[in-house]
Amino acid sequence: MTESPISVFDRLVHAEPSPHTRPTLDTACVLGGSVAGLLAARVLADHARRVVVVERDEVGTEGRSRAGVPQDRQVHSLLPAGRLWIERWLPGFTQEAQDLGAVLATPEQAQTCFDGRPQAPGGAHALLGASRPFLESRLRARVLALPNVSTVRGRATGLLYRDGAVSAVRHTTDRGEEVLETDFVVDAMGRSSRLADWIHGDGYDKPRLERLHSGINYASALFERSAPAEDLPVACSLVVYPPPYPSGTAVAAVNAIEDNKWLALLVGFGEDRPGRSVEDFRAVCEELPPIYREAARGASVREVVTYRQSDSRRRGFTGLGRFPARLVSVGDAVASFNPVYGQGMSSAALHASCLSEFLRDDPRLDQQATEFFRLQEVVVDAAWAVSAGGDAARLDAENGVEVPEEVRQQRWALQQVIGATVLDGTIAKAFNNVSFMLRHPFTLADPVLLERAVAANQAAALAGGEAV
Ligand SMILES: Cc1cc2nc3c(=O)[nH]c(=O)nc-3n(C[C@H](O)[C@H](O)[C@H](O)COP(=O)(O)OP(=O)(O)OC[C@H]3O[C@@H](n4cnc5c(N)ncnc54)[C@H](O)[C@@H]3O)c2cc1C
Repeated sequence: MTESPISVFDRLVHAEPSPHTRPTLDTACVLGGSVAGLLAARVLADHARRVVVVERDEVGTEGRSRAGVPQDRQVHSLLPAGRLWIERWLPGFTQEAQDLGAVLATPEQAQTCFDGRPQAPGGAHALLGASRPFLESRLRARVLALPNVSTVRGRATGLLYRDGAVSAVRHTTDRGEEVLETDFVVDAMGRSSRLADWIHGDGYDKPRLERLHSGINYASALFERSAPAEDLPVACSLVVYPPPYPSGTAVAAVNAIEDNKWLALLVGFGEDRPGRSVEDFRAVCEELPPIYREAARGASVREVVTYRQSDSRRRGFTGLGRFPARLVSVGDAVASFNPVYGQGMSSAALHASCLSEFLRDDPRLDQQATEFFRLQEVVVDAAWAVSAGGDAARLDAENGVEVPEEVRQQRWALQQVIGATVLDGTIAKAFNNVSFMLRHPFTLADPVLLERAVAANQAAALAGGEAV
C-alpha cells in the first residue's frame, strides 16, 4: 500500500539524524551557501568524507546582509517547526542564538490576530526572533565548524558528467575557471538557480516550472527597542486582515530581534504598497495593535526596505525520463512560496531531512535520485497547498472567477477553520500545526474538526458576532 502524504510528512518531521554512519561518498559539493545549502551540508557531513560548499558571495559569520540573498533585510520568521528541525541537526542552536541576542518569544508573548481578533489560547509556540542574516550566520558558524565541511568562494557555472551521473562542478573563482571533482551535488542556488537550464543544455530533461501570481509588496523597517525581551508582553506578532485592507495592509508582523531592535513588516497585495517611508510606516502602525505603535515609536535605524515578489514558483523533479544521477536540488531552487507564510527556511530544513532519509537507506547512486525527489515532493506539495491555495482563493475572489463546486467547498471549509481559530483553542492548535509545518495540511480536512469549527462559528454568530 502506498504511504499517505500525512504519514510521510509525520515521518520526516520526526526523523532523527543518522546514527554514526560510514561515509559512502568521497566529495560532496553544495552549490549555494545560504540556509538550504548549509543545512544540506550538515546532512552530507554524515555521509561524505568531505563536503565543499561553493558560494559566490563573500560570506562570514558576522550576520551581514549580502547581494546573493536580496530578501535578507525583510522580516523572516523561523516557524517553530523549522527551529525544531535546525535544533535536531545542530543541537544547542536556539540557546546559542539567544546568547547572542536573539529573542525566544514564549507562547504567551506570541500574538496572532485575524481581522483584529486575537487567536484563541492553545495554538501558540515559542518563536525565535532574529534577522535573516543573523540566522544564516549562526547556521554557517555551526556547519563550517564541522571538521569535514569547507567553503569555496566561487560562482558555479555548470556540471560535468560520467556515465549519466554528475562527476564534477565547474566554477569561477578569482583564480579563473576551476573544476571540482565530486561524487554528489546539491543545488541550493535559490529561486534563480540556473540548474534546469544547465542540465537541459547538456541533453537531460528540464524540470517543469510552475508559477502562480502572488503580486506581493513587502516593506520592512528597523527600530530601536528599549525594553528587555523578558519584559515585553508581546515579543512577536502577526496580524492578518481580510479585504478591505486597513491602509492597504493585508498582513503585518513585528519581531523583537537581536541587538535590541524591532523588525517590523507591512504587506500589501497588487497596487497596495504600505509603509514605503518611515513616516508612512509609522502612520500605518498607529492603526494596528498596540505593539506595532510601540515598536514604530523607537528610533528608526535605517530606511524602509521594500521588496516585490510577483509569483510563487516550484520546479517538478519527479517523473523526468532523463535526469543525471548523483544530483538533487533543495530549498528555494525547488520551490519558493509567497513569503507571507514564512515557509522557506523550514522547508529547507525538511528538504535536509529528505536528503538524510535518502542517503541513509543506501540508495543506488548510479540512478537518478527518484526516492529523494518523491519524499521532497510531499514537503513541497504541503507548503504549496498552504501558500498557493491561499493566493489562488484571494485572486479568484478579486477577479470574480467561478470555481468548481469541490474547490468552493474546500475553501469554505478552510474559512470555517480559520474563523474558528479566534474562538476555540483546539482549532487554533490544529491550524497552527499546519501553518507552522508540523502537520500535513490534509489533517485540516478532518470532518470532526470541521464540525467543531462550524459549531464554534455558529455559536459566535448567535451570540452577536458575525457569521463566517
Ligand atoms: C520577501 C521575503 C520574505 C521571506 N520571509 C520568510 C520568512 O519569514 N520565513 C522563512 O522561512 N522564509 C522566508 N522567505 C524565504 C527565505 O528567504 C528562503 O527560503 C531562504 O533564504 C532559503 O533559501 P535558499 O537557501 O534556498 O536560497 P537563498 O537564500 O536565495 O540562497 C541562494 C544562495 O545561492 C547562492 N548562489 C546563487 N547562484 C550561485 C552560483 N551560480 N554559484 C554559487 N552560489 C550561488 C547565492 O549567493 C545565495 O547564497 C522569504 C523570502 C522573501 C523573498
